[in-house]
Amino acid sequence: MIVAKFAGVIVDVHAKEVDRIFHYQIPEKLANLQIGHRVLVPFGPRKIEGYVIELTDRVDFPESKLRKIIRILDPEPLLTQEQINVAKWMAERYLGPLSQALQLFLPVGIRYGKERVSEKQQLVVKLVNPDRIDTYLQELPKNAHLQYSVLLFLKEQPSFLASELCRLSGANHSTLRALEKKGYLTIEQVVIKRTLDIATEQRPVPTLNSDQQKAVNKIIEEFHTSKQPILLHGVTGSGKTEVYLRAIDYCLSQGRQAIMMVPEIALTAQTIAWFTQRFPNQIAILHSGLSEGERFDQWNSIYSGEVGIVVGARSAVFAPLKNIGLIILDEEHENTYKQEDGSLKYHAREVALKRAQEHDALVILGSATPALESYHQALQGNYCLVEMPHRVAKRPLPSIQLIDMREEFNQGNRTIFSRELTNRLNETLAAGEQAIIFLNRRGFSSFVLCRKCGFVVECLNCQVSLTYHEPEGVLLCHYCNARHKMPDNCPNCASSYLRQFGVGTQQVEQFIRQNFPQAKTIRLDADTTRRKGAHQRILNSFKTRQTNVLIGTQMVAKGLDFPNVTLVGVLSADFLLNFPDFRAAERTFQLLTQVSGRAGRDVKPGNVVIQCYDPTHYGLQAVKKQDYINFYRQEITFRRQMAYPPYGYLIRILVQGSDQAARENALAIYHFLENNLADVELFQPAPAPISRIKGRHRWQILIKSKILVNDVLQQIQVTDENVRVSIDTNPLSLL
Ligand code: ADP
Ligand code: ZN
Ligand code: ZN
Repeated sequence: MIVAKFAGVIVDVHAKEVDRIFHYQIPEKLANLQIGHRVLVPFGPRKIEGYVIELTDRVDFPESKLRKIIRILDPEPLLTQEQINVAKWMAERYLGPLSQALQLFLPVGIRYGKERVSEKQQLVVKLVNPDRIDTYLQELPKNAHLQYSVLLFLKEQPSFLASELCRLSGANHSTLRALEKKGYLTIEQVVIKRTLDIATEQRPVPTLNSDQQKAVNKIIEEFHTSKQPILLHGVTGSGKTEVYLRAIDYCLSQGRQAIMMVPEIALTAQTIAWFTQRFPNQIAILHSGLSEGERFDQWNSIYSGEVGIVVGARSAVFAPLKNIGLIILDEEHENTYKQEDGSLKYHAREVALKRAQEHDALVILGSATPALESYHQALQGNYCLVEMPHRVAKRPLPSIQLIDMREEFNQGNRTIFSRELTNRLNETLAAGEQAIIFLNRRGFSSFVLCRKCGFVVECLNCQVSLTYHEPEGVLLCHYCNARHKMPDNCPNCASSYLRQFGVGTQQVEQFIRQNFPQAKTIRLDADTTRRKGAHQRILNSFKTRQTNVLIGTQMVAKGLDFPNVTLVGVLSADFLLNFPDFRAAERTFQLLTQVSGRAGRDVKPGNVVIQCYDPTHYGLQAVKKQDYINFYRQEITFRRQMAYPPYGYLIRILVQGSDQAARENALAIYHFLENNLADVELFQPAPAPISRIKGRHRWQILIKSKILVNDVLQQIQVTDENVRVSIDTNPLSLL
């Protein structure tokens, strides 16, 4: 029985010209072809892989011109109709190739022409009938030495790993196949499953408190009714994880499957242990630390329906579950949910919502500091808002102090520690408690600040900080390309302390060692975690209290749950606030709330000291008062005034190439857009904040628009094949 005459195939070639459906005839012998099958097709002079995404009886093409599908590559289709729908949506929404969108649903081991075998998938050779071995040996032609040798080994031991047998006998794979053909032996694939090395931490199942119970009730209600996405806004330490666990449990009891997403950085052994302990043998884990083979095994156990829960980072949203009932994003505001590299710059939150729609599943977005966009959706009535405003077991939120570093400076303290932080750290160490010192990643540190009065120069058009550019000595706006001369003195107080800003973790460690004799410091940053396993070792040394001061960048901000930490020090909040990005205030608020949440998570109350140059900033005030709503109100006003998201789209077109080509193409694209876009705010091409990477010059054009303008953006062309253009709608970073 033939289902259809033709198959629409997306070929696995990453070139813009071939990113469309190609039709092929379905030969009679491939009558079992289904949508989602991976196939081998002729393509020009080559044979390449593709994915069947439609079956049809009609094509507007002379039938005789259509070539035939050569073969089906896997017994079962690898993709479902649902996944194909989501991939199509992604290709349109994010202006990327469909072939790449499809591949996101497949494990790496399967892409790029590899056979679908895992690293550890082994071939096992067995004698068909061990009793007849002597007959086999006699029947062999005299010159078949290798076959003879193989059979001799099998006489000793009737089953072998193929690789082992070849090694011992000197035979190769075709020798084995020849013997198989004669009917002497069988060659079978056996999957030897790697077990992930997971420490299980025994934690008793707590009784839900009333906020948690309310949240769970609401989730169950939505699960059975309108399935409106739930925004779970719970302060740090309010016990959101337990709510997720109960929701997953419920989902499974209803015969559905669940995806639990956490930011990569929070996907620690500790988190994984919580989930595996509660749902033993029902979980697959996907994260970037797995080897290709391990990832394949995990993918396979999901694909085969062996497990019903997937825990993972961003890519878990593509897990091949067939009956999803629930998708949870913990820390839904996190940047890591946005794919900023590659040609498909998707946001996992958006993909989750789309997939959930396809499965009629419920989405839970959890956070102590929801993304402004998400809270906006909730207030608009598009999400269902569930609040958990208290920490579990009536533990207080930490008390937070803002320290004005201008004061310190003017009082003659030129060190990186305020007097308050110095005192607090001494007290903490004397009490045998632990501290976390947070500072921002260096790298991009070129905003300029007056150490005396805290003044930072901003662009008047865009209200983002100007950044200092060394060679020309100018201050530049990366949104609109406005340029200003670097002033000699502070425009605000006329002092000469206008400085580029920044201090590294190493310097901080040195400072602490010199000034705090009781400190046993350890650093957690990009430098110290380069080696495999280092991250875990560092955290262990802190957990087991061999060290008492943990110094670090973003990595220390999230997910850590150490009961003995009673002090958190933030060396400079301004670093974040003055990032040249319209989300700078939101980021600051989120990060500082998270990092503050590391203090006083157990019975001992926590203290947080935040050093800054502008304690009156609404973002910092909101952190101090732990008042999300108040922050939201002020920030949303700013967004509305400036037409930044969620009141419109900010679209970034990044043009990369050699100096001249990049600039010229950026300009040409700008003129094209000028002529083709109406009702948008179009900015002049400007060098990106990181204006050169590996010798490639980077220019950007920003567009502010009330609506998506993908139809126009799709038509952007370049005149030089070495110039790359990538388009990102609502980019999270504009570096
Ligand atoms: P959040 O993710 O909201 O910051 P967690 O889920 O990490 O908070 O929970 C904080 C701590 O509270 C964890 O150690 C957790 O085991 C504990 N916890 C959660 N629910 C309860 C409860 N109902 N009673 C007591 N402790 C709880
Ligand atoms: Zn500007
Ligand atoms: Zn000044």
